[in-house]
Amino acid sequence: MKFDITFLRRKVARRILMLFFVCALLPITLLAIISFNHVTKQLRGQSQRRLQQASKAAALSIYERLLFLEAGMKSVASTLTMGNGPLTQSSFRGLDEDLRRKFKGLVLVSDTGNHKAVFGEIENPPKTTGAESHHLSAGRIVVSSEHRPALPTRVFMKMMLDPQAPLQGVLLGEINTQYLWGSGYEDTLPPMTELYVLDQSANALISSLPGAESLSEEMKARVALSVSGQFEWRLKGAEFLAAYWSIPLKYRFFVPQWTVVLSEPKADVLAPVSNFKKTFLLVILLSLCTVLLLSISQIRRSLVPLNELQEGTRRIAQRDFGSRVAVTSGDEFEDLAASFNSMARRLSKQFDALATMAEIDRAVLSALDTEKILETVLNRIHDVFPCDRVTVTLFDQGRGVPRTYVKGSNVGSKTWVETFPITSEDVREVCAGPEGLLLMDHEAPRSLAPLFGLGVKSLLLLPISIRGRLSGIITLGHLHPPSYTQDDLVQAHQLVDQVAVAIHNAQLYEETKNQAIELEKSNKVKDEFLSVMSHELRTPLTTIIGFIEMIRDKMFGAINAEQEKALEKVMMHSKDLISMINGILYATLLESNAVKAEINDLKLDPFLEDLKSDYAIPLDKGLSINWDFAAGIPPIRTDAAKLKHVLQNVINNAIKFTETGNVAVSVRHFPEARTVEFKVADTGIGIPKEKLSLIFEKFYQVDSSQTRLYGGVGMGLYTVNKFTGLLGGTIEVESEAGKGSVFTVKIPY
Ligand code: ADP
Repeated sequence: MKFDITFLRRKVARRILMLFFVCALLPITLLAIISFNHVTKQLRGQSQRRLQQASKAAALSIYERLLFLEAGMKSVASTLTMGNGPLTQSSFRGLDEDLRRKFKGLVLVSDTGNHKAVFGEIENPPKTTGAESHHLSAGRIVVSSEHRPALPTRVFMKMMLDPQAPLQGVLLGEINTQYLWGSGYEDTLPPMTELYVLDQSANALISSLPGAESLSEEMKARVALSVSGQFEWRLKGAEFLAAYWSIPLKYRFFVPQWTVVLSEPKADVLAPVSNFKKTFLLVILLSLCTVLLLSISQIRRSLVPLNELQEGTRRIAQRDFGSRVAVTSGDEFEDLAASFNSMARRLSKQFDALATMAEIDRAVLSALDTEKILETVLNRIHDVFPCDRVTVTLFDQGRGVPRTYVKGSNVGSKTWVETFPITSEDVREVCAGPEGLLLMDHEAPRSLAPLFGLGVKSLLLLPISIRGRLSGIITLGHLHPPSYTQDDLVQAHQLVDQVAVAIHNAQLYEETKNQAIELEKSNKVKDEFLSVMSHELRTPLTTIIGFIEMIRDKMFGAINAEQEKALEKVMMHSKDLISMINGILYATLLESNAVKAEINDLKLDPFLEDLKSDYAIPLDKGLSINWDFAAGIPPIRTDAAKLKHVLQNVINNAIKFTETGNVAVSVRHFPEARTVEFKVADTGIGIPKEKLSLIFEKFYQVDSSQTRLYGGVGMGLYTVNKFTGLLGGTIEVESEAGKGSVFTVKIPY
């Protein structure tokens, strides 16, 4: 089995794993520690109690043996004192053999210090101190010990042979310490237990643990505290449990006291616990592995499906509805995956439907032709709402009879048009509202029977209403009863609404198109009329001006000053008239795109001089015209006639709309930009800011009232703007009401 643990990279997996560990291991560990402590305590307590009892028993045994030794010695003394005569070897023959085992040697020390062996030998017998002599003379026993470095301690027992006759000497015996301490004779001590017997100064009389002769200060200090007790001590890194029991010997044996200490290595006492420790560690390790395996397998079982589901969600977010989530965990995850897959299927269906709907919407809304819209609906609606036959009936198309467009669902089936006698009233009778209706063939009214065809058994009627008026109907025919969901019906109605909007748009477009054609026609008529009229007016006016000039030039005889003045006026108004007519003529020509720029080289000096000469006649108002143009501007390439027309119009306007002050005409040359700038500034009535953008429009005048002061038809600036554009230039205006205007014409070359 492949053990894949990559899922552990997930936070949730790690969290669950941690939880498993904590839940499984924490109680076991706690339990183990508690029981370990408890067992250790118990074992230690038991061992110390056992040691305590054993030390008491050992102390009593030693005391008992001292009593035996005392009794033995006393019996020897009585034997010796009973015989009258000198001591011989035969006098001791009757001595108990057992006594020979208990004493290494027994000697009689005479008053003079002579030693006479009763049996055995005592090397370097101890001296009897004064205090001991006093104790001995009371008929009591003295026990003493002799420490020898690196050798076992010797223990002696003395008694006066006859306390009544001290001169008889003292019986001195060296106690066989093996007997005294019981080692080798009767092993009453519990196994692994070490025996120590300490004298009153806490020096070891015996130590069964090799190398522990010099006992630790710790042990000495402890035993000095009380007659019995327990303690723990250490020797060379090893720990021991110990219990002691003191034997009071002062009265009977002169020596103040001996303390019997029994000690047991702690390691031996706690051996069962250390086994338990090992077992426990093994158990922990085993449970760790088990927990690890179980938890990983559990987490995998939960996370792998979760992963799958997450992947599935990601794919759905990327609109990949085709792939499915495969989970076979046999639990809720599997159910979830099944629901997820069904959701993906539904989403896929809905998205497909929406995409198709959007396509249809786009197609119908972008079409401005009703026939094309209907064609799209008839061809594409099967993709969203599977059906066997589609019809679209439009009641009011201005063609008299309602037309029904029919199409079968087969690929390549053609659309044909029928003129069924179905009216909007017939449909309204069946479905009153705009919600539509699913109609079975047997319940359909006779009027709608033509819509059932090709064996269609049921019909979904979807009314098309435009601006609240029932204008048509879409029907989806089915050979078998369909199963539409509420969502399908909502979508169908949305589609029909879009179709209604599209048809309405198409109708509006049709109307607008017809109106535009009509408008164009009437505009053409107007332009033709204006053109003809302008021509017709210009010809007699030109003749009038010609005759005025002839009269003014006195070709028909002399005229007086008054007549000349009147003629000047006639001349001026005629020129105004002709310029107005020219304006209209130009405008009509511009409308029909008949005006083209004729570009030629133009020397500006003579051009400007000529323009200036046109304004040489003094004006009949307090106005002066200032000209400012530097000589020597290089020739430019432009249409001289149109440029002149532009400048004349702007200058004429400046003169017309200024009563007093001056009109300044300046010309600047910008060689880097290859531009010539003509500026006409006046101190006239100015133009309100909000009207500035309108003055270049056809027939626009700032003051168009009946009572206006200035003449004109509002065509001048329109023509000026158009001409400037034809020359590739621009015209700008800066003005303020009452403060004058500045028109700037820039012409590139
Ligand atoms: P019009 O034949 O009326 O002069 P234009 O097209 O030449 O027609 O001018 C349009 C309008 O712009 C004028 O009626 C006038 O109100 C305004 N206008 C043009 N030039 C000036 C100017 N220099 N000062 C004030 N108003 C002006």
